[in-house]
Amino acid sequence: MKIDGDFNDIDAIGDDHIGSPSDTPMRSDAFELSNQEKVDIIKDDVKHIMETLGLDLDDDSLKGTPNRVAKMFVNEIFGGLDPDKKPNASTFANKYKYGEMLVEKNITLYSTCEHHLLPIVGKAHVAYISNGTVVGLSKMNRIVDYFAKRPQVQERLTIQIVKELQSVLNTEDVACVIDAKHLCVNSRGIRDIESSTVTSEFGGKFKEKETRREFLDYIQLDTQF
Ligand SMILES: [Zn+2]
Repeated sequence: MKIDGDFNDIDAIGDDHIGSPSDTPMRSDAFELSNQEKVDIIKDDVKHIMETLGLDLDDDSLKGTPNRVAKMFVNEIFGGLDPDKKPNASTFANKYKYGEMLVEKNITLYSTCEHHLLPIVGKAHVAYISNGTVVGLSKMNRIVDYFAKRPQVQERLTIQIVKELQSVLNTEDVACVIDAKHLCVNSRGIRDIESSTVTSEFGGKFKEKETRREFLDYIQLDTQF
């Protein structure tokens, strides 16, 4: 999609999810504040939003919300912005000499759309062909979860998962397919509750038709949400 003009009008993007480079756009001073300092600032910001909406922050049910949301943003749903939380990349020698494709499918994925800050819920399917190095199976789930815990666009998330596994496994032969629902589409705006979005990234041998077909046959994409 082409956006006319000079991006001065943020609303020009509207509800469309435009593509962006594979790195999460971060400011150079992103880590100058401690996580606790971030929580304290965001707590006041959330309080301000709620007060502006006319909510009574003295109400027992509401008064804890700003602190709860701030902690959740920094430590949980956007915790994957913190490089210290990246899963460590311990790998093993492939002593079984298993040279076929390994597929980890139906990895549950919770992320957040960076255009609306609403949830993305779906499944990721990841595959690689070892060139001598293997990772623990749960490491693949952890890598998916780490990159999902950021404000995201699904295309970038798919690429980030593949790039990270390529680097950990020291091979180009990595693939990822994600099928996910975006609540910004399903619960508001066009309110299409049935639609979901499929993205894929195929590296190395997975660019070849037969290898790609084998992977897609294993995952038999028919996601149950
Ligand atoms: Zn959105």
